[in-house]
Amino acid sequence: MKAAVLHAIGDMRVEEMPMPEIREPNDVLLRVRAVGICGSDIHFYTRGRIGDFILETPTIMGHESAGEVVEVGPAVKHLKPGDLVAIEPGRTCRKCDYCHGGRYNLCPDVIFMGTPPVHGAFCEYVVWPADFCFKLSEGMTAEEGAMMEPLSVGMHACRLGKVKAGDSVGILGSGPIGLTALMAAKAHGATAVYITDMVEARLEVARSLGATATINVAEKDAVDAIAELTGGRGVDVALDCVGSTDTLQQCFRIAKTGGAVQIVGMPAEMYPQIPIYDLINRELTATGTFRYANCYPASIAITAAGLANVKALITHHFSLDETPQAIAWVHENRDKVIKAIVHP
Ligand SMILES: [Zn+2]
Ligand SMILES: [Zn+2]
Repeated sequence: MKAAVLHAIGDMRVEEMPMPEIREPNDVLLRVRAVGICGSDIHFYTRGRIGDFILETPTIMGHESAGEVVEVGPAVKHLKPGDLVAIEPGRTCRKCDYCHGGRYNLCPDVIFMGTPPVHGAFCEYVVWPADFCFKLSEGMTAEEGAMMEPLSVGMHACRLGKVKAGDSVGILGSGPIGLTALMAAKAHGATAVYITDMVEARLEVARSLGATATINVAEKDAVDAIAELTGGRGVDVALDCVGSTDTLQQCFRIAKTGGAVQIVGMPAEMYPQIPIYDLINRELTATGTFRYANCYPASIAITAAGLANVKALITHHFSLDETPQAIAWVHENRDKVIKAIVHP
């Protein structure tokens, strides 16, 4: 089969790789139909590593994917050939306390697609356990299926931040995760969602998705703007979907007293200064967000119900042959792209 393989920094080649095979009774063989290009794919392409994960052997990138079932193992009951599924990219051990407790995203033995040395989905075929494949609702497309990954990040953040009906939510950053968090917050019943960015085109998409107010931080300070919008009270839940020290600090300022700070973006520094007096004196609850758990079914359901227009985030399309150029291009044109999709 054809695959886009990352060999070294800046060296991705589309080449022949062995066809994956069903090995476990619970496996399914999938024809990959759509894969989103994510910041982490670009990071591996440009730096060769993310934290402890280092590119040492040629690896297929890509973890935001959907595919069509081609063949199922003998133990697979809920899928059949022809089904279109969203592929949850982290397969877990199913045996540890975290797996048993429902927080399987924290499983120490997770195997995650497109994270060296685990192969991802920029290729024609993938074999993956059936319990991490979620059948799309009638009428949903493969590219919507690929978007279930970033949407699940937004869903998980809103669940951990306990967003509920009538809440006000402040989201810093209108990249793919900020925008999926916006959809997820609204699906959880938030009635006021304020969202920031420096790129006007992204704020326009945010408005089309029902943001209550958008703040262009090139023109206006996010903390002042949200104070104004909430009459000085602050938001019930503040989400940092950028991962800069600035936005992280701002989250602690825009959350209402007693409110929640949900950290989704990963700051570049290990020890950013955070406004600790806000955390203590105003009893904020700050929580980290790592990927997602049990979110795919809900993400599919809200998309099918018309509560999450993930298609609005897809701005560019590429073929599998174009994957190396696409990743380089997206890296250089981040302001123009929200989500680019590769169609193997
Ligand atoms: Zn991703
Ligand atoms: Zn586990």
